[in-house]
This record gives sequence, structure tokens and C-alpha cells, in this order.
Amino acid sequence: MKRIALLGATGSIGRQALEIVAAHPDLELVAAASGSQEISGLAPLTQVGGDLTELLERAEPDLVLNAVVGFAGAAATLWALEQGVDLALANKESLVAAGELALAARRRGGGLLLPVDSEHSAAFQCLEGRPSETVEGLVLTASGGPFFGRGRAELEEVTPEEALEHPTWSMGPKITVDSATLANKGLELIEAHYLFGLPYDRLEVVIHPTSVVHALVRFRDGASLAHLGYPDMRVPISFALTYPERAATPLSPLDLASGPALEFSAPDLETFPLLATARQAGELGGTYPCAYNAANEVAVEAFLRGRLPFLAIAETVEAVLGSVDGTPARDLDDLTTADREARRLAERALQPA
Ligand code: NAD
Ligand code: MG
Repeated sequence: MKRIALLGATGSIGRQALEIVAAHPDLELVAAASGSQEISGLAPLTQVGGDLTELLERAEPDLVLNAVVGFAGAAATLWALEQGVDLALANKESLVAAGELALAARRRGGGLLLPVDSEHSAAFQCLEGRPSETVEGLVLTASGGPFFGRGRAELEEVTPEEALEHPTWSMGPKITVDSATLANKGLELIEAHYLFGLPYDRLEVVIHPTSVVHALVRFRDGASLAHLGYPDMRVPISFALTYPERAATPLSPLDLASGPALEFSAPDLETFPLLATARQAGELGGTYPCAYNAANEVAVEAFLRGRLPFLAIAETVEAVLGSVDGTPARDLDDLTTADREARRLAERALQPA
């Protein structure tokens, strides 16, 4: 029996995880948490809001699936890494923000860090067991989101409803907007840097509208290994929850002859500047990635509430990154302070002059 604690149980990832757990007799849900929705009865221990690490202390899980959205999941990620409890990580924002702090906690704790993000799960599988000196680089694919192919002028008036119509993945609202701005791929670039220890100049992003190839690893002999499958998060969730067993899922195997097009192109960094901005924040290190994430969370929320035009999301993040000093965090308190300061600056940038 693997005892699972599921954080973010009512979300898009959380609900799909419940499906996987229910279908697998060796997985036992011992705790579940949500942000605001009532979930009593879902697991022996449940919690709505509050300190997630208190729930985890009581639950004593073998594995934490962190599917909370945003920086709110950071303390739980650091707790699992520090305690050496295996962590299935969907909550990319926590690894992006915590960065080196998370890696240090992971070294001390010694548990598994299993990515749930589809691209990173794919890369993890392509990399597994292969010596790092043989790896030349990693390519993350991006669908391009609902606004792929448009120029800046065509994005001035787009509404939250339009941004929430993702072509290939059905996800929570925050990540769906991040996919439309390419901030999601920016966060994923930083996530990949911390997960796989590759420098940014060996991390590449390509647009691939059908989301069939999830990631590709290039090796020094000229070979590349790619991971393919229909876009369905139950595959990486199941992989992480049942690792290393790779349990069966009810999904159909990929049928290439039925015709999902395998087309690739370079991202348009001018129209979608948040991808390049993430790379810069990642290269600067310290708490710059934390500030990038915090400012983006504030700006996306404002966009969803109709307070901010789509193109101003990137402008807000850039303004905040230009105002913070990026001092590395020594602990969670420092990190929380950096996150709060970036949020304050972002809120200020939202106010009309
Ligand atoms: P969602 O908005 O559908 O769900 C978020 C969940 O987090 C909800 O259960 C909510 O109650 C919970 N939550 C929010 N604040 C909380 C708090 N303070 N304490 C406890 N719970 C809290 O989001 P989602 O699409 O499921 O995404 C979750 C995470 O997974 C995000 O980090 C996202 O980037 C990542 N991710 C999602 C997908 C996807 O297909 N949805 C794919 C890859 C990665
Ligand atoms: Mg992803």
C-alpha cells in the first residue's frame, strides 16, 4: 500500500488523481486538502485552507501529490523534500519560486521528486538511468495556446473567455492563461533547470500545436529520445503515483497513422515575451524566479477579473522584475517575504498612474 496525501484535491489535476487512486488497489488516499471547497469524507484526514504542512505531519504519507495552484503550495513542497517523503509535483510554481532552497531540502531529505508536469514527466522518462555527461540538452514542447499565430495587435482586446479556450489541454484557469501568454512554458523552463540540473542554454522550447510530443532529450552522439502520447494528464499523474511500476491506465495507445500532425516551430518571443523573461529571471537566479512567479500570479488574477488587459500581464511582470533585488532566500521565511514583496509591487503596477 502506498499512502497518498493529495493537496489540491478539487482542481483539474486533483480530480484526475482521484480517478487514478480509485482505479489502483495499491494506492490509499490518507489525506486531502483544498483551498476553499468543502471536501469532508474524501479521505480519512481532510483540510480546507490552512497550513498544509500540519495536515502532512498528521497524515504521515508515503507520497505527497502537490496539485495546489501557485506559491500557496511552496511550504508543502519544501516539507516533503526536507522530510524525504516522495513528492509528485504538479505545483511547478513552488519549485520555480523555491529553486535552490528546494534542491538543498531534497539533498537533505533524500526522497524522490517525481514531476507531474507532462513535459517534465516525459523528460524524466527519457533521461532515466542515463549518465548526465551524455546529455546535450532538453527540448520542451508548447502547444502555443489559443493565440498561437497571432501578432501583438491582435491580442490587445482579447478577453479572459478567449484566453481560457485551450486548444489541447483542459486545465485550471491560472495555468490556462499562463499557456496563452507562454508564461507556463517560462515557468517550465525554470522547473526543468531545477529538476534536471541543466543550464538554461541547454534548455529549448518549440511550439508543437497538437501536444503529442511532450519532450525530447538530445544526447551527445546525435541521438534524440522523445516521449509521445495523446495530451492527457492522467498519464503523468499515474506514472508519478505508481512509480516505478508504470501501472496500466484506461487510455488508448497512440495511433500515429490516424494522423495527429507532428509539426514544430520556433516560439514568437516578441508577441509572447514572458517566455524570454522567464529565461532571464532563471539565469539571474536568487529570488528572481520567485518574483517572476508572484508578479505573474497577481497579473493573471487581475486579467481574469477584467482589471488588466492581456498584454499588460507581461508588462506587469517585467516592471516587478526591474524593481526587486533578487537576493537569494535562506529559508522559507525569506522566500515568503520575497513573494509578498513582488506581489505588493505587482499590485502597485496595476494601479492606473
Ligand atoms: P486548479 O485551479 O484546477 O486547482 C487548484 C487546486 O489547488 C484546487 O483544488 C484548489 O482548491 C487548491 N488550492 C488553491 N489554493 C490552495 C491553498 N492555499 N491550500 C490548499 N489548496 C489550495 O489548478 P490545476 O489546473 O489543477 O493546476 C494545479 C497545479 O498543477 C498548478 O501548479 C499547475 O500549474 C499544475 N499543472 C496543471 C496541469 C493541468 O492539466 N491542469 C498540467 C500541468 C501542471
Ligand atoms: Mg506542462
